[in-house]
Amino acid sequence: MALEGIHSYNSRIVAYRNDFCLSCEAPRRADQIRSLKAYRILYIPVLPLGFWREWQCSECGRDPHRYPGTSRQHVWVAVAFLGACAIVGIRESFEKQDFTTVWLMRLGLPAVFFIALWFALRNKPDRALAEKLAKISPDEDTACAMCQGQLMLADAWRCSQCNVERKALPR
Ligand SMILES: [Zn+2]
Ligand SMILES: [Zn+2]
Repeated sequence: MALEGIHSYNSRIVAYRNDFCLSCEAPRRADQIRSLKAYRILYIPVLPLGFWREWQCSECGRDPHRYPGTSRQHVWVAVAFLGACAIVGIRESFEKQDFTTVWLMRLGLPAVFFIALWFALRNKPDRALAEKLAKISPDEDTACAMCQGQLMLADAWRCSQCNVERKALPR
């Protein structure tokens, strides 16, 4: 057991869709999990990180669009580094600097950080995966995959029993 790390609380399935899992190398149903994430030390949550929604393969429980054996940790390390640079840059900009440098530090560095954050969150599938995803047909069943309840179309296809939403892959 790790003494510190990010932990999910109150995890529940809020949606599902037909998907392709790179770990199973097969078409799978993916579940979208909503959870409250917090950084914890010695089982005590010390830093709440807000609510997150993540897709998980219903068979293997992994992120269906992540290649097995790869980790996206380096991506987040880079984003955190750029965030730290932006903070330092803004703080330094209040020291005596010439006009251009000040605005480059106040706007340029945060902009780089937000662009990196946007790419990290977007995590666009590569071409091989995109081709596989194109072959996945959306779930058309009007019975809920979770509880067999009746799906109702309102703002989205939603189960009348368990309130889970049936989604399709983004096109
Ligand atoms: Zn899987
Ligand atoms: Zn249901």
